[in-house]
Amino acid sequence: MLYDANNTFAKILRGDIPSNTIYEDDYTLAFKDINPCTPFHVLIIPKGDYVSLSDFSQKASNSEIIGFIRAVGNIIYKFNLAEKGYRIVANSGSDANQEVFHFHLHMLAGKNLGSIIKPI
Ligand code: AMP
Repeated sequence: MLYDANNTFAKILRGDIPSNTIYEDDYTLAFKDINPCTPFHVLIIPKGDYVSLSDFSQKASNSEIIGFIRAVGNIIYKFNLAEKGYRIVANSGSDANQEVFHFHLHMLAGKNLGSIIKPI
C-alpha cells in the first residue's frame, strides 16, 4: 500500500489538525488517543511516512528505528508505566481493522487489561 499524505496522523505531524501531545523528539511524536480505551491510551508514531510496522521495518533507516524504540522506552519511563505494566498494540491491515494508515503503536495502561485475545 502506498502512503497517503492526507491521513489523519500526517495532518497532525504537519500541524494541520491539533493533537494532545505528550512526547516529541527528532523521530517520534506521541499524543493521546481521541477515543481512549484505557485510562492511559497514547498513540506513538514515527515522523517518517510509513503505513505500518512492516513498512517501517523494511524502509526506515537504522537511526529512525533505534530512535523510535528509544522513544517508546522514554515514554514508558516518563509516565512511570514499567512498574504496573502496559500493553502495546500495532494494528496492520484489514484483519486488524487498521483505521489510520500511518504506522502507530497504541500504548495502553492504567488498569488491568485482561487477556489480549480470546481462544477460538
Ligand atoms: P487503528 O488505526 O485502528 O490502530 O486506530 C486508530 C486510532 O486513532 C483510533 O484509536 C482512534 O481513536 C485514533 N484517532 C483517530 N483520529 C485521531 C485524532 N485526530 N487524534 C487522536 N487519535 C485519533
